[in-house]
Amino acid sequence: MLLDHLKADAAKVNGVRDEQPSVGLPVERRVYTNRSLRLDQIEWVGFDMDYTLAIYKQAEIDRLSIEATVKKLVDRGYPPELIEAKYDESFPLRGILIDKQEGNLLKMDRFKYVAKAFHGSRELPRDKRRELYHQRRIRVDSDRYHWVDTLYALPEAAVYAGAVDFFDSRGDQLDYAQLFKDIRESIDEAHRDGAIVDVIEQNLPRFVAPDPELATTLHKLRSAGKKLFLLTNSRAGYTESMMTYLLGGAMAEYPTWRHYFDVVVVAASKPKFFTERRPIMEYRGKGEESTRASRFERLKIYEGGNLGEFERLIGASGDEVLYVGDHIYGDVLRAKKESAWRTVMIIQEMADELRAAAESRDEYAEIDQIELRRAKLMDELRARQVRLKSIERDREDGVERDESSQDAYRAEKRAIEAVRQMLREDEERARNIERTVDERFHRGWGSLFKEGVEVSSFGDQVEEYACLYTMKVSNLGSYSPTHYFRSPRDYMPHERG
Ligand SMILES: [Mg+2]
Repeated sequence: MLLDHLKADAAKVNGVRDEQPSVGLPVERRVYTNRSLRLDQIEWVGFDMDYTLAIYKQAEIDRLSIEATVKKLVDRGYPPELIEAKYDESFPLRGILIDKQEGNLLKMDRFKYVAKAFHGSRELPRDKRRELYHQRRIRVDSDRYHWVDTLYALPEAAVYAGAVDFFDSRGDQLDYAQLFKDIRESIDEAHRDGAIVDVIEQNLPRFVAPDPELATTLHKLRSAGKKLFLLTNSRAGYTESMMTYLLGGAMAEYPTWRHYFDVVVVAASKPKFFTERRPIMEYRGKGEESTRASRFERLKIYEGGNLGEFERLIGASGDEVLYVGDHIYGDVLRAKKESAWRTVMIIQEMADELRAAAESRDEYAEIDQIELRRAKLMDELRARQVRLKSIERDREDGVERDESSQDAYRAEKRAIEAVRQMLREDEERARNIERTVDERFHRGWGSLFKEGVEVSSFGDQVEEYACLYTMKVSNLGSYSPTHYFRSPRDYMPHERG
């Protein structure tokens, strides 16, 4: 389980029953396995581009997107003061859910229990959270909610929280759902008309942190006989600029970035790529008309397409293909549901998660201690309650009515109260520790993968749909191209004992 990876130390994770070479690797370089996978059985390895091969500097790109979005909102007639409002780009966390009706942002555990809730950026009081979300099961798929499932979508959550705060502070009556709709449309428009991508394309070093080991990682896969493809939703021009920035001139063996790949598909419109039947077109250059393609040629660029035709043209399918992406819905979930492609999910936040988990070892140990003591105290409480009952019964039956039974009765009562007090104190202590640990992960939301002792709804999706997950693509380069990634989850709870 995710929890095991995050909490346990290296020896604990890897010592049990796998022969991973992970043992020697620092945690942020490891590839984690949900579902066992033999790399030697993979023929094609595909990559998404944005947030997968291209790792964005999140704070920079968030600020750019927020600024562009708010500008568009004002153009739509929102008050100009909105530009001066406060937007905290570090506030949203991947995996949170927006309640458009109420202007709230929520974090859930895997059972869809809302554990944290904010109105704008202000935490909702506990009773309000109960009233709104704990009376009935919330329908995540309904129109009322919007899932923030990519890093790309964090800015819209930051704008939403900031704008809700802004209008609330003015005492304005507001249709929170309309506000969200306007934000969504504004950010889409900013992406479409180049207000965001053009700025990025012209300042790549400001927005993108190239991975110095990316080229050698791709080369290593190629040398082992794997075929590589790029499958991105970005358009040809942007892809060309980005990939040249990431790979151009990295290795003498590869004259251009295109030489690393056997097939390049841009403007793929994932998730539609997996669900619809759009034709594969050959891109002929800027301003030129694309033409229908009937085969793939190396060094050319293709557009659009669909899963079925793509598999036919590369001559491989299903579990011979490993796809590496960052988008749980567009890359990983759809690939899993519509095809039998194996998947690797890139989770950039893992560096922070692993650091926070490492720093929290003492607290985790303390919580475990408290849990253990709590179990013992509960046993003691139950035993004492039984004893008290029996003294009570004896007294009622008139069997024991002397002083000593009176004393025993009082002593038992006192002991029970003492145990209850200890339980209360432990609970309070555990809550405080959890708060400290949460802060270390993410102010406000806590861990990306966990919620309390449960896996978060985001962590749950990662577990369900990603065969492997890791912080960055070049981590694959730390493993042999024939590596057997073994899932540690071979046991069910009843087998663990
Ligand atoms: Mg992506």
